[in-house]
Amino acid sequence: MLSVGEEFRGVWYRSDLNAKSRSPQILNRNPMPTTSSRVLKTRRHTIQLPVFLPVYQPHKETATLREWQRDFGIEGCIVNAYFLYKDREMRQRFKDGLELHDYIDFDGLIMTDSGAFQGFNRPLLLANKKIVAFQDAIGADVLSPLDLVTPPGDKRTVAERKLNATQKRIREAKRYCHQGMLAGVQQGGRFRDLRRRSVEEIMEIGVDYLAIGSLVPFFNRNHNLQFVADIVREARTIAGPEMPMHIFGAGDPVELPFFAALGADIFDSSSYGHYAAGGWYMTPYGAVKDHATLQLSGFNCSCAICVNRESSTIPEALPEADLRLHNLCTILKTLERIRTAQATGEIEGMLTDILERHAVCFPGSDLPESWATCNTPDVERT
Ligand SMILES: [Zn+2]
Repeated sequence: MLSVGEEFRGVWYRSDLNAKSRSPQILNRNPMPTTSSRVLKTRRHTIQLPVFLPVYQPHKETATLREWQRDFGIEGCIVNAYFLYKDREMRQRFKDGLELHDYIDFDGLIMTDSGAFQGFNRPLLLANKKIVAFQDAIGADVLSPLDLVTPPGDKRTVAERKLNATQKRIREAKRYCHQGMLAGVQQGGRFRDLRRRSVEEIMEIGVDYLAIGSLVPFFNRNHNLQFVADIVREARTIAGPEMPMHIFGAGDPVELPFFAALGADIFDSSSYGHYAAGGWYMTPYGAVKDHATLQLSGFNCSCAICVNRESSTIPEALPEADLRLHNLCTILKTLERIRTAQATGEIEGMLTDILERHAVCFPGSDLPESWATCNTPDVERT
C-alpha cells in the first residue's frame, strides 16, 4: 500500500493519504551542523553541492537535456549505462567513438548507473568489469560499479554476502576506471554494523565519491527518517567533511532538505515522472492529489507551467507532461532553497517550516515524529 518498487533506483512512490494517524511532534531537540561548502570536482566540472541529478531516459523523454538546462538550470543528470550497453547497435556506436555527452547532447555532469537495480529483479549476465569499462570509455563523469542491491528484507547472511561481493566489485572497478570518477556504493541492508563496515572499507579502497545504496525502502515508508538518519550521519562521520555523498533514489522535495541537513548532498531520481504518472503534484511539503490538501499547504507554485495554466485548470489536474515539468521544477527549486539556507545558516528554520506545513497536510505522516526521534540521543530513545 505504501510503496511500489519498479525498475529504477528512484522509482518507489507512495501515498501520503494512506498514512496511519499519529500525533506529530515538531520539536527538533538537537540542532545539527548543516553548513555545506562541499563541491563535486570531476575531470570536467565543478559543482556546488547539494545537487539533484534527474534520471534521464534518452528514448523516453519528450524534452532534451539542453531544454532542461535552459529552462531549469539543471547541472547534471544520471543515465542508465546498462540500457545503452545491452543495445547491441548502441554499443557498437559507442565502440566506434560516439561519446556519451554528444549522444545525449549535454555538456553538464553525467553520472551513469550500472544496471545494479535491474539486476535486483533478474539475472543480467553482465560482468562488473565490462559495464565499468564501458561507462569509462563512453565518457561518464561519475560511474557506478555493479553493486548488489540489498532490500530491508534480506537476512544478515544474505546482506553480508552481498556486501562482500559489492566491496570486491568496487575494488575491481577501480582498475577499470581511468577517466571518470568511481562511486563507492554502500550496501549492508538493514544492518547498521554492516553499513558502517561498508563505508570504512570503501574509504580504505580509496574513492572520491560515496553513494548510499538500498536506502529508498526505508524512507519510502511514510517518510520515516529514523534509519536513514542513523546511516547517513554515520557515513558522513566516517567519510569526513569533504566527501561528496549521494543517496541513490532520493527525489521527493519534502525529504531532500532533511537528507541535506544530515550530511548528504547528491540526489537522483525519476520521481518527477513517476509521481506525475500517478497524478501526484509535488509541493515542498509533500506530494498531493487533491485540491483540499493543496490548499491546506498554502503552496502557490511560480513555475512556468503553473503560472501559465488555464485558470480553470486546478494545478493537480494538469496533464501528465506538464505535471512532470512542474514536479522537476519543484525538486530543483527545493535544492536552490537548501543551498541558500545552508549558506545563510537558516536550514533549521527551513526544516521547521516544512515540518509544520507537512503535519497540517498529512496528519498521519511519520516525518515529524521520526525526525524528532532521530535527533534524540540513543540512550533517550524508547
Ligand atoms: Zn508549478
